[in-house]
Amino acid sequence: MCCLCQPELSDDELKIFESDEYLRSSLTREHIDGRRTAKPTTIKLQGRWGACFFLKNRRCSINEIKPRFCRQFPIHIHMMKRVQLNVNLSCRGVNDKGGSLKSYGRSLLQSIPEERLQNYLAESKRVSKEFETRCSKAGIFQSAERIRSVATQLLPILSEQDGIGKILGFADQEPVIRDASEDEIASLIDATAPPNDLNRMAKQSNYDQFELEEVARLPVYVDEELMWNIFQSKDGRINCMVLEENGFLELRKSLDMNEADLLPLDSSAIEEFSNYARTLIGRDQFLGYASHVCHTHEYKHDLLTVYLGVLGTQLLDLWWRASLLGRVFDQSEIDAWLALEGIRAFDMDCLDAPTIGSLI
Ligand code: SF4
Repeated sequence: MCCLCQPELSDDELKIFESDEYLRSSLTREHIDGRRTAKPTTIKLQGRWGACFFLKNRRCSINEIKPRFCRQFPIHIHMMKRVQLNVNLSCRGVNDKGGSLKSYGRSLLQSIPEERLQNYLAESKRVSKEFETRCSKAGIFQSAERIRSVATQLLPILSEQDGIGKILGFADQEPVIRDASEDEIASLIDATAPPNDLNRMAKQSNYDQFELEEVARLPVYVDEELMWNIFQSKDGRINCMVLEENGFLELRKSLDMNEADLLPLDSSAIEEFSNYARTLIGRDQFLGYASHVCHTHEYKHDLLTVYLGVLGTQLLDLWWRASLLGRVFDQSEIDAWLALEGIRAFDMDCLDAPTIGSLI
């Protein structure tokens, strides 16, 4: 999966690549996010949106010298006020929810020169402080501890069929909850009716996310056969295509968007979604994402309300993504297996969301 993501090289790695004719021929200045750098700093993809130049029959042909970007996967190093390692749950190699990667993650951190790590951390702390000062001036600040504590209190609500809808309905009302206790907030949310148009909201949001011409930027789902599935929306339809190493695409299934409704969740699926919510709540990157949303909305809404809205939206997107896979696999209900496949199809995009703090 990581070999569909274009690796960007550090200055040290660039020196090695530039010193060899073959390695140099892999470099490009075109980045899949649309940027074009002054000099080549990243590796080409085959056929514009296929796998990395160096992937041959699903094996890295430069394994001994592959960039740190690749060696690091599926670990994401995030910094806000501290350094946190997140595991990308889209990777099919991850088991034990990534717990077995702890020592590998620590060794990755140790391989980064201490001074460089401290410089990154000092900068991300400065940005976090600036964000908090702006929030405080706007009267919308809530501490990370309180936000996490309130969100954790909501996990039992997320264990109900309409829990995601309740959180979204609550955040939509933009309630004033500045001094409310965690129990009070949980009771208010529990008493909120889910929006009537949850299905429409889910479809619209995901249709827009998949409506990109550039295939390399579309979401990828690696199925149990290790096939790369790409989803693209176009002309009211959502197309699932299988991508090959050389960039060749084959249509697997095409669905009318009107048929792509949310599927019902069974109790085991709800439990998996609730567990995933716990993972999100623990991630600094996710708090950074909610902070980024707060920033783009010009500090108009309480940080806790924004966080709850973002949590509800992410879980709704996950629900829709699992439902889409259900249509691909001809399932009419989401069970634990499909919920976990949905998380695999979704987590990469969730971790890629813009965040306050930095990913190194
Ligand atoms: S350098 Fe190797 S590991 Fe890295 S993306 Fe390319 S093929 Fe994959």
